[in-house]
Amino acid sequence: MRSLAAPWQTGCWLTVRGNKPNMCGILGIFSPEPVAPALLTGLHALQHRGQDAAGIVTWDGQFHTRKGVGLVPEVIGTDLEELPGSIGLAHVRYATQGSMGAVDAQPLTLAWPPGLAMVHNGNVTNFKVLRDALRQNTQTSLQTANDVELMLHALAAPWRGQSMQRLQVVDIFDAVSALQAQVEGAYSAIAVLAGRGLLAFRDRLGIRPLVLGQRQTSAGIAYAFASESTCFTPLGYDLVRELAPGEAVLVDSAGQLHRSGAGADRGAFCAFEFIYFASPDATMNGTSVAERRRQAGQRLARQVRQAGLQPEVVVDVPNSAWHAAAGLADALNLPHIQGLIAVGPPVRSFLGPHPTARLRTVQDKLQAVPDLVAGRRVAVVDDSIVRGTTAKYITRLLQDAGAAAVYFLAASPPVLHRCAYGIDLPTRQEILANGRNRVQIQAFIGADAVLYQDLADLQASHSDVAGCFACFSGDYPTELSAQTWAALAEDRQLRQDLTAPNAERPL
Ligand code: SF4
Repeated sequence: MRSLAAPWQTGCWLTVRGNKPNMCGILGIFSPEPVAPALLTGLHALQHRGQDAAGIVTWDGQFHTRKGVGLVPEVIGTDLEELPGSIGLAHVRYATQGSMGAVDAQPLTLAWPPGLAMVHNGNVTNFKVLRDALRQNTQTSLQTANDVELMLHALAAPWRGQSMQRLQVVDIFDAVSALQAQVEGAYSAIAVLAGRGLLAFRDRLGIRPLVLGQRQTSAGIAYAFASESTCFTPLGYDLVRELAPGEAVLVDSAGQLHRSGAGADRGAFCAFEFIYFASPDATMNGTSVAERRRQAGQRLARQVRQAGLQPEVVVDVPNSAWHAAAGLADALNLPHIQGLIAVGPPVRSFLGPHPTARLRTVQDKLQAVPDLVAGRRVAVVDDSIVRGTTAKYITRLLQDAGAAAVYFLAASPPVLHRCAYGIDLPTRQEILANGRNRVQIQAFIGADAVLYQDLADLQASHSDVAGCFACFSGDYPTELSAQTWAALAEDRQLRQDLTAPNAERPL
């Protein structure tokens, strides 16, 4: 790895413990029209990717920022007069590690040098190494524990002492290449370069998604970069394409597109985007997320037959398992019924910061429908089984509602390993399938049978995608040091401590 001897900005000293990996939704828009209304609409459509914090920044000669902890409506509101400008960024954050304070909410701006704002999604795995190098080489200390601040400094480093206006397109892409050579891990990022345009880039393996869209307006073409195409529909944007692994695209101040295909000889797109994280109406790697999930459910049918199970109805765990359950029901020619319903506001239980809080979310939001499940053998499908506490609770719900049998089916293989790239998976000790055989897993969950998706099946079904399956296989696409894992474990514990509920309910 190259040293960080570049001339970083100097700043105040503040000790931060570790970085905060972010599983997030990001959006950036360059338009002939004011962008704040579109950023807000798009952010609503990306809310499923992060429910801890939200923010918008716009530029009209200076940056205007509104951000904070909470959901989009609470943080941004509806009065957008103080967010003028025709270029801007938006972010929703699911903080997988560390604290969740407003200081870590994105977008982040860098006043000098040279007028940058950025949002990102992912996790920088060599954060501490780079942070320490930054401090040692330039006496600059980060003021947040957020990866994106480090990336802002890394991007701006080659431009110190230069006017942004004098930067050539090649200078901008050279800076992205230098950043990619130093910054390891998973990141998709979008940046406003004051007066120069909108820049988007992915890590060299393309672990996190990033798409380009466009819309014809009466005054010219508007461009948008986003985590998912799902936000383009309400904005009236057409999906142009996904950025390739390692690719950078610049929309310059005249609205011209430039690209740099830094590229990689291989990719490692996160399989969990298809399994859980992305919205089902998104298109990723050229196919519908909903269709991938339906196919995953269809493949489960073979395992149900091999196990000799004879369910009478198929039930999905709302909402991410709906398409997988529909695929299973199709393949088995069974009715797919709404035997579980989600009540109250839509909150994603997977995104809960603390295991007890996460379980409580499930307890609060899910109810069984006794009239539909009583006396019937139920195949209940969830997107995954991680700790097993949710599966155990749902099994109990269905049993209490009178189900004659409960077969718990996961549309993904057993999760066995942690994720270093921004998805909040627990330590190996907490993972249910780690060190337990099928009988022990079944006994813990309390179901009449437990089946998982086959890893080989999953990989075969994604053979058109250069994917990361590391949380199932342990085969990580990047080098990960013991220091990285220690930092992840430390920050995760910190975050759990900070978000633990005061009182626990019995399972
Ligand atoms: S380890 Fe799992 S969750 Fe993490 S990027 Fe790879 S597939 Fe996605």
